[in-house]
Amino acid sequence: MEVRGRKRQRLLFLFAIVIPACVLLTFAGLIVRQETELADKRAGDERRQALEQLRRELSTRLDAIKLQELTLLGDDPAAAFARREPESPVVFVARLDQDRLVMPWETAAKPWNPSAEFSRYQREGETAEFIANDLPAAIAGYRLALRNANRVEGRCRAQLWLARTLAKSKKAEAADIFHAMMKHCGSVTDDDGVPYALYAASQVSDSQSYVLEQADQIQWRHPAQAWLLRSLLPAEAKTNLDLLIRDIGQMTALARDFRGSMFRMEFPFTSRMNGLAWLAYGEELWLITVMEAAPQSAPVVLAVSSQKVAPPGATLVATHTESSVSLGEGFVDLEVDWAPGRFTGNAGVPARLYAIGLALILGATGLAGYLLLRDVNRQIELADMRSQFVASVSHELKTPLTAIRMLAETMDMGRSKDPEKQSQYLQTIVNESERLSRLVDNVLDFSRIERGKKIYQLIPTPLADVVHSVAQTMQYSLAQNGFQLDTSIDDSLPPALADRDAMEQAILNLLTNAMKYSGTARSIYLSLRRDGGDAAIEVKDRGVGIPASDHAKIFEKFYRVPSANTELVAGTGLGLTLTQHIVKAHGGRIQVKSVPCKGSTFTILLPLVENAR
Ligand code: ADP
Repeated sequence: MEVRGRKRQRLLFLFAIVIPACVLLTFAGLIVRQETELADKRAGDERRQALEQLRRELSTRLDAIKLQELTLLGDDPAAAFARREPESPVVFVARLDQDRLVMPWETAAKPWNPSAEFSRYQREGETAEFIANDLPAAIAGYRLALRNANRVEGRCRAQLWLARTLAKSKKAEAADIFHAMMKHCGSVTDDDGVPYALYAASQVSDSQSYVLEQADQIQWRHPAQAWLLRSLLPAEAKTNLDLLIRDIGQMTALARDFRGSMFRMEFPFTSRMNGLAWLAYGEELWLITVMEAAPQSAPVVLAVSSQKVAPPGATLVATHTESSVSLGEGFVDLEVDWAPGRFTGNAGVPARLYAIGLALILGATGLAGYLLLRDVNRQIELADMRSQFVASVSHELKTPLTAIRMLAETMDMGRSKDPEKQSQYLQTIVNESERLSRLVDNVLDFSRIERGKKIYQLIPTPLADVVHSVAQTMQYSLAQNGFQLDTSIDDSLPPALADRDAMEQAILNLLTNAMKYSGTARSIYLSLRRDGGDAAIEVKDRGVGIPASDHAKIFEKFYRVPSANTELVAGTGLGLTLTQHIVKAHGGRIQVKSVPCKGSTFTILLPLVENAR
């Protein structure tokens, strides 16, 4: 039975759970793979489209900038070479003289030639100042030079020398000259491109506002001028100038590269004037092109900030990285690096959702499988127990029936004439038939309980009577089997609400068990006493005992403790189930204390009438 059951259980598990789960898994795997491939393809398409669109947008934008700059170049060359507002994408526009990039800060002003007197007084002053160390003579020389300066260039120079020398002795007069210079020498620069006014500003302490005003002017500056101006600025105002210095550095490097032959060979766009080519250049990444305002006119280099023309989400780079793609024709060395995760290609359900769904389905299938297995196992166990029960009942019925029949036949044949013997036979027949009816009662009651048809008549009943009656009933069979029954019955107990027959049956079951599972021991103790507000009916034996792990299970239907001791004894596994049901129906409870090989004590606790619930 059990082997067949297990086989069926395995088949059921295989067909109901394992195979469907495998099919489901395979399908889900296929779908996820297909979905991933599709997503990859979609991402590839999206990437291509985005690149195409970026090329178009960038070309249009750059073309527009170029066109605008070309117009400016025609209308107002000075504006074309000026430094743009910080937001403007144009970094610079610079003329190309042969292969030389003309820096926007280079001035076209003609060099100034001092007059012979000016130069002579200058020399006299310098000799007195630096060689003879004669300050008054130096001051006199510089004053004469100042007087002989016919243009502002000369005046500013002479003022600087004079003020420098005066500062060593007549500070106030020197300061006056420096202040005057700050007003008039803003546009006159020395050979390093630094305005004389800025030198003057660096010598007086109250030049802060003048310096800030200068720094605010957005224009290209000679590197030396930019550095001097930066050194005069307070720390918090240096940012703009730092950006300018960075641009000046990159521009100087570009000019150097422009002159190098490598540059010309490598970047063919220089030969394609007004072509579409843009070159990516530098760390700040400028896009550079060469254009002509009109045919035959000098070419002009235009640089645009890539950062300011790139659409959001796309970073333009000059060096190839793992994630960058070349922009292709028309853009030299220019690549685009898309923001990560921009192309997922996942218009459909994301793979993670599939995975969650799959995990849920598998979880549910697993749970269903577990429940199914548990249920099937339980059914198998119950079927086993039932078949064992039928065998046990038949066996239990057979033993008393055989005894009754044998004794009845003996008497019928008149073999024993001894009246004492006859009475003993009759007593045994009565006893065995009582055992038979107890067994039948148990089975019938169990079936009534199972169908919910069992009804108890609860009336106030003196429990002492019940216990005495049970002891009386069992007396003969106990004596016959050599048992000694010790009793201790408290006759003064108040009555309890009880169904007398049912309660007798419950106690009889306990006593029968005590006999059945006594092993070689032959003493049983039966007592009735008060336990708080309850009556306690106790049946104690010194028999085989029950392992602690089975204490709860013995009250389950058909359950019998699996041991050699139990197997030797006939039983149905129903006695305790019935006893517990009866006790609970009386509002009481049953307790078991038992140690293997030492014996067991079963106690029924019933509320007395004064406490009846
Ligand atoms: P059974 O017909 O098998 O006696 P019960 O429901 O009366 O059925 O008891 C269930 C099981 O509990 C028994 O098979 C036995 O293993 C165990 N048991 C019951 N009473 C005792 C006892 N007094 N001593 C040891 N084992 C007991």
